[in-house]
Amino acid sequence: MEKVVIIGGGFAGLNLVKHLDPKKYEVCLVDRNNFHAFPPLFYQIASSGLVSANICFPFRREIKKMGNVSYHMGHVKNIDTAAKTVTTSYETLNYDKLVLAAGSTNNYFGMSNLAEDTFGIKTVAEAAHTRDEILDRFERGAICPDPERRRQLLSFLVVGGGPSGVEIAGALGEMKKYILSKEYPELKPEDVTITLVEGTGSLLGAMSEKSRRKALEGLKDLMVNVRLNTLMKDYTDKYVTFADGHKEYYETLIWTAGVKGEPMPGLPAETVGRGGRVLVDEFNRVKGLEDSVMAIGDIALMETEKYPHGHPQMAQPAIQQAVNLARNLNRGEYATPFEYKDKGSMATIGKNKAVADIAGMSFGGFFAWLIWMIIHLLSILGMRNKLSVLVNWFWNYLFYSTSLRLLLRPVKYPLRRHWAE
Ligand SMILES: Cc1cc2nc3c(=O)[nH]c(=O)nc-3n(C[C@H](O)[C@H](O)[C@H](O)COP(=O)(O)OP(=O)(O)OC[C@H]3O[C@@H](n4cnc5c(N)ncnc54)[C@H](O)[C@@H]3O)c2cc1C
Repeated sequence: MEKVVIIGGGFAGLNLVKHLDPKKYEVCLVDRNNFHAFPPLFYQIASSGLVSANICFPFRREIKKMGNVSYHMGHVKNIDTAAKTVTTSYETLNYDKLVLAAGSTNNYFGMSNLAEDTFGIKTVAEAAHTRDEILDRFERGAICPDPERRRQLLSFLVVGGGPSGVEIAGALGEMKKYILSKEYPELKPEDVTITLVEGTGSLLGAMSEKSRRKALEGLKDLMVNVRLNTLMKDYTDKYVTFADGHKEYYETLIWTAGVKGEPMPGLPAETVGRGGRVLVDEFNRVKGLEDSVMAIGDIALMETEKYPHGHPQMAQPAIQQAVNLARNLNRGEYATPFEYKDKGSMATIGKNKAVADIAGMSFGGFFAWLIWMIIHLLSILGMRNKLSVLVNWFWNYLFYSTSLRLLLRPVKYPLRRHWAE
């Protein structure tokens, strides 16, 4: 049997695992986390709508009935394409075929300090950390006697007006509009500032005009200040410098403005293209390494006439590339080139507020929100996860649940620095 090493068990990697012929391939799945996660709901972790366990699923449970698949925890440190080995934090693995499915990571466009000073929702761990920071600011704001310092503590800036930015800004807006008066009676809505800045002239740039407009209206209704055509240049000592030179204080900056391919050390430089993504041909074979290395999902850059800058970094291209690659590998020849079937896109702004572009039509409001919920529920792995997400959503819908807003931190945790202030 040929040995296939797959780096990354996200939408792309896990779907490849499921579709590879167990009689033909021995599969080793490498991932730094021991679970598959569901990024479209990370913003709900950050906004205390769900807990991490609701949207994550352990690899070992998923693969336990697959005799040909093993899971190895590890962060990839080096790939040696000549020796056909992958070295992780813990071991070196041999492969006959290597599939890169490690997704993407935050891109700070050269502002290296942002990795330290800002918060994100790119991984489940980042989202959980962001949630803790948000709760920390609300608690500290609630007991702060100085009105000016209180307003500083409760100033949130979301950078990036794509689906992730719109969703987290909307969730913060819901906290301000609906939750504040119930749980933080010491605070008034005017104590909390939520600003979303976007460098281009509209939110949700990849969606229809109608959806973009509805998203803007929805955020305004949730008391979010949206500033379009606004670029930030720097963030130092909590002051954001914008492209026009003016500065504003923001205690918490949530970065959703860009991603780049997850770096794969050791891969020849000429295989890496625009946005740090790995250049592949129409069969997802890495250029120059066609016989043994493939890349699928967010990390892969397949430049076609219709998608000259690669396919959108979304779940569907990742899943479809995995299924197509498995088909070719199982057949033993690369006969079917990848063709992306666009099933549409959607984003949610808040309760009863979503936008969806499906089959050339745009939907908004409650109907789009219902479609959004059904599609996401069906896509989460595990029946118990589906049920717990459904129960949480139902509970939140009725009561804006409070039980998940727990701030858990051991005394020796670095956040102690806040207590020392
Ligand atoms: C907040 C957020 C919201 C999103 N919302 C939507 C949405 O609503 N709809 C949609 O279609 N798409 C959405 N996306 C995009 C979608 O999640 C990605 O396009 C999709 O996950 C890509 O799948 P993938 O398998 O290529 O990568 P991922 O799903 O990111 O999986 C990569 C895997 O590789 C592992 N990994 C990464 N680096 C290493 C390493 N060096 N060593 C070992 N393991 C590694 C990771 O742990 C992870 O398990 C969203 C993304 C985010 C971050």
